Amino acid sequence: MDGNASLWQVAGAKISDVRYRAKCVVPFCNHSKGFEQQGVEWICGDHWRLVPRRVRQIKFKRFRQEKLANEKFRALYDAQGSRYTDEQFRAVKEAMDAATRAWERCKRQAIERAVGI
Ligand SMILES: [Zn+2]
Repeated sequence: MDGNASLWQVAGAKISDVRYRAKCVVPFCNHSKGFEQQGVEWICGDHWRLVPRRVRQIKFKRFRQEKLANEKFRALYDAQGSRYTDEQFRAVKEAMDAATRAWERCKRQAIERAVGI
């Protein structure tokens, strides 16, 4: 088996592992997408375009910050012998909450604007 064939196998395994389908969060939209985890929220391409650019940018920024905060927390946690301080926990929690708020805002905008067209 050459390199390409094994890569193809890995890709094939990943595709077959997709078990959960998420519908676009906009009511009556028929678009859906497969996800490896259950309970994923998703906005389809058509409706994502209705979200104002600025709101989308904030979402990407907050998700990036959340990822960095999680990585930082994980590194501190490991370095401190599986411990964390209240302050470290608050920092990662705030980043997660901010990411959630940014996503909720995207959903609201997509749904509101979808109703208007
Ligand atoms: Zn949609």
